[in-house]
Amino acid sequence: MAAEKPTILVTGGAGYIGSHAAIALQRGGYDVVILDNLVYGHRDIVETVLGVELVVGDTRDRPLLDDLFASRNIAAIMHFAAFAYVGESVENPAKYYDNNVVGTLTLLEAAIAVNIKKFVFSSTCATYGVPDTIPIPETHPQNPINPYGASKKMVERILQDFDTAYGLQSVTFRYFNAAGADPEGNLGEDHDPETHLIPLVLFAALGKRDNIAIFGTDYPTPDGTCIRDYIHVTDLASAHVLGLKYLLDGGESAIFNLGNGNGFSVRQVIETARRVTQREIVAVERDRRPGDPPQLVGSGEKAQKMLGWNPKYADLNDIIAHAWQWHQQRHG
Ligand code: UDP
Repeated sequence: MAAEKPTILVTGGAGYIGSHAAIALQRGGYDVVILDNLVYGHRDIVETVLGVELVVGDTRDRPLLDDLFASRNIAAIMHFAAFAYVGESVENPAKYYDNNVVGTLTLLEAAIAVNIKKFVFSSTCATYGVPDTIPIPETHPQNPINPYGASKKMVERILQDFDTAYGLQSVTFRYFNAAGADPEGNLGEDHDPETHLIPLVLFAALGKRDNIAIFGTDYPTPDGTCIRDYIHVTDLASAHVLGLKYLLDGGESAIFNLGNGNGFSVRQVIETARRVTQREIVAVERDRRPGDPPQLVGSGEKAQKMLGWNPKYADLNDIIAHAWQWHQQRHG
């Protein structure tokens, strides 16, 4: 008889990164159950593309979590469910601490109660704040400059303490800027509201917006605009499957950056999108957006060495081309 596939609970699996991880898990031989409150997630993606069980609910709902764990044999949790708008977190920090910190704490307590002790966590380069060195290593001090980053940093600390006290093993991934779409064309980025640079640039290319705003042109960078390390969502997803395997094989808690080590300015992203789409994209210069560090570029070497992670789409042209394919299909 074939061995039973381990079942992985993917919170936020109806969202952008979670849905790509869910498909990578399925391709990697795992069963997936998704927990998503559908505030930002998409039911149609789960039902038509992923075809896995969707539990509609919130990570702050302890009775729901208890029922979910009692009725299924969950081997590990991948926790993507979170609010992730930097600007909104500055304006409404309560929302971020409640969902991202209280929600995760509730989930972790429910997991520990039923002895689920393998946990893969979505953290962020926003936990570093304004970096002293580029590329940023995992050992860099963490001084977040916005509540979103602070909420993720708090969860990192909770995970460390839960390991010491309860033996919970976790892999934490600090993502740089997730971008791109599944090259097979079935999944992609679909935020509402959309605030991220690459999708908004592509909306301008599609004529759904008049222009793209450049937030800040007086940063201490070569062209005055912010520099980010854009990482393909399919590469993020593959790292999650490797991180899970590492934990299921008995690996100790560990933290990894997921970045390409290459930074691109806002102007370079717009220029690349013009080349890829062959469309006119009008850019307008605006004030800085609060909460944005000038430069975030991460070293992914630790994940490459310890997990055998091998990013396949490190080229910004590929990242934007895959996103373009998706946006034409979904919004064109
Ligand atoms: N950005 C911009 N115009 C936009 C959206 C974003 O200039 O309409 C800039 C933003 O200030 C940041 C970079 O693009 O420097 C990446 O922002 P995004 O929101 O995509 O990701 P974040 O870095 O906030 O995770």
